[in-house]
Amino acid sequence: MIANENPVIADSLWTATANESPVFPSLQGAETADVAIIGAGFTGLSAALHIAQSGQSVIVVDAETPGWGASGRNGGQVNPGLIENPDVISQYYGRMQGHRAITAAGNAGARVFDLIRQHDIACDPKQVGWVQAAHSEDGAETLATKRAAWDRVGVPLQHLAGADLHTLMGSDAYVSGIRDPRGGNLHPLNYALGLAQAAHKAGAQIFAQSPVVAMIPEGGATTLKTAAGTITAGKVLICTNGYSGNWMPKVAQSVIPVRSVQVATAPLGDNISGSILPGGHSVSDTRGLLLYFRKGPGGRFIMGGRGAYGNRGTRVAQEELRQVSLQIFPQLKGQGWDHAWGGFIASTPDHFPRLMEIAPNVIAGLGYNGRGVAMATEMGVQLARWAGDDVELDFPITGPKPITLHRFAKWGVTFEVARRKFLDRRAR
Ligand SMILES: Cc1cc2nc3c(=O)[nH]c(=O)nc-3n(C[C@H](O)[C@H](O)[C@H](O)COP(=O)(O)OP(=O)(O)OC[C@H]3O[C@@H](n4cnc5c(N)ncnc54)[C@H](O)[C@@H]3O)c2cc1C
Repeated sequence: MIANENPVIADSLWTATANESPVFPSLQGAETADVAIIGAGFTGLSAALHIAQSGQSVIVVDAETPGWGASGRNGGQVNPGLIENPDVISQYYGRMQGHRAITAAGNAGARVFDLIRQHDIACDPKQVGWVQAAHSEDGAETLATKRAAWDRVGVPLQHLAGADLHTLMGSDAYVSGIRDPRGGNLHPLNYALGLAQAAHKAGAQIFAQSPVVAMIPEGGATTLKTAAGTITAGKVLICTNGYSGNWMPKVAQSVIPVRSVQVATAPLGDNISGSILPGGHSVSDTRGLLLYFRKGPGGRFIMGGRGAYGNRGTRVAQEELRQVSLQIFPQLKGQGWDHAWGGFIASTPDHFPRLMEIAPNVIAGLGYNGRGVAMATEMGVQLARWAGDDVELDFPITGPKPITLHRFAKWGVTFEVARRKFLDRRAR
């Protein structure tokens, strides 16, 4: 079970199958470092690893434990690129910056697998490509547009249809698909724990169970306060994503936390497990309320999708995921379901991540819109470059971008979920 979490979303398959990990101490007393990092998910840990490797001193502090947030709970799908297609990215950032962002985000999946190899992280990595599947004719058009857009920037995605699609999926529920060879999947909590150990080995100090409650500028430096200690650092990275609390409103109000949930079967026998996604691929589909699925430890089948803010709605969403799994893979009929869990992704209204200067020498990187396994790892690299005074990052640094009427955002999300559900039922 995920410690200190609402039981309705705490029964994580990843926690149940996590590798042994060192227990990191809580912060006591006064520490100093070149760089302090708040949040030990993929963003903060990737930044810590790269900063430590560059020779700067770095301290990471988490309110809970490394990987406790979205990084230890997600679908483990390594999805290259941003949500928007390359042409939209170019329009948004401008041609030169857009080109850099497209390249960095596109290569982010390969970076994840390289890091895993370099640091020998035991997290069941499968670099078999990432599949997007069209649930309707409209979805097929969306994927065709995406494929053409990537083709124009020199990245060929594989078109899947007919027998090829059926064989790859082990289901005939989808109209067509595309496979991005740069992606794949992994065990997300073990990847986070492995990153923590790699960062620690490279010289980063990691403190757990130490929520930062205040940030105070002191001369040219900044001091972070926790209940029992302080860290004074020349530079601060805020990497709290969908778990950014209200202690730092400029960060919290730049994203909308949206709950995503997953359910997993009991271990499946070889016959059934082998008939579903036999190549070990992970899939996201084109529904407005996107479904994402794969297999996991013990040959289990894992299905994920949108949750709700309340417990009742979340339980309903979890049951709907079990039911839709049977529609897509009827061979699952009669199998038991062992785990159900969830967490917050951080969404932004324009679907672009944020790299924001919050105060002098304080920067935040967040807002991956459910694409953070690869992108948060990449953002950690960008943040590490910033900490090393690199001024030419692949994503532009902006000021804080608070969302208008942020306090009503949850209502907006609830309305949007209902709207998409309606549209999904009417899809061509
Ligand atoms: C259910 C689910 C499924 C998902 N599936 C996928 C997927 O398949 N593929 C994909 O690419 N992405 C997926 N995502 C998104 C992905 O998990 C995230 O984008 C990514 O993990 C974000 O990493 P992070 O390090 O920025 O944030 P997090 O991992 O959320 O880490 C933030 C950390 O900050 C800490 N923190 C917060 N406040 C404080 C404080 N005051 N002091 C100290 N520490 C603090 C928290 O304890 C937490 O550990 C999914 C997300 C969820 C929730």
